Amino acid sequence: MVSAVVALILVAAAFCGMTRVGSGGSSVFSFLRSPRYQDDWRLVLVNGDCALPKGFAPPLLTLSNGERVDERIYPDLQRMFDDARAAGLSPFVRAGYRSTEDQERIMESKVDELLRQGWPEKAARKEARRTAAKPGHSEHELGMAVDINSHTSDEWQLYAWLAEHAWQYGFILRYPQGAEEITGIDYEPWHYRYVGADAARAIRETDCTLEEYLGAA
Ligand SMILES: [Zn+2]
Repeated sequence: MVSAVVALILVAAAFCGMTRVGSGGSSVFSFLRSPRYQDDWRLVLVNGDCALPKGFAPPLLTLSNGERVDERIYPDLQRMFDDARAAGLSPFVRAGYRSTEDQERIMESKVDELLRQGWPEKAARKEARRTAAKPGHSEHELGMAVDINSHTSDEWQLYAWLAEHAWQYGFILRYPQGAEEITGIDYEPWHYRYVGADAARAIRETDCTLEEYLGAA
């Protein structure tokens, strides 16, 4: 039994990078061991240190505009959009699920753009990683993250509504302002991640990030 648990932790650690072990007083092992992390499909952590689990293949549903999301988040996403529309807003999913190949293309096009601007290659790759996750490390590859934009010009009104209400539908603002050191990603007022109602409420009440909620920060 003990060896099975250790094997599971080691397999998970292989995905999640060993670099954080023991750093900053926390250990990658502690959050991987937590029942909260292991038993809930909604709480898979994907960030710069923690790669998408191997063979991860969410059940996808295609939205009317062609974007795809994990079908299990769709009812709450639809409810959130219905209520936002009732409040006079015009949300749409600009980006949902991306395959690892899609993410590779996005990263390469960002790097190409910087190279065209005259950046040296190494610096261009580093800069591109500040705004785009490296392939295998984007939440969009989970199917549980959505970039939400507005059909009209009231984008900031929409972001304000989402910041206030998204938790009620199980979504969190994944990359808040001031948390760049923890998330590794610049503030993105449009990027929402589904974590389910309980986690979304707890994260809102404690004003923390998903990394902190899972004990992985
Ligand atoms: Zn996004």
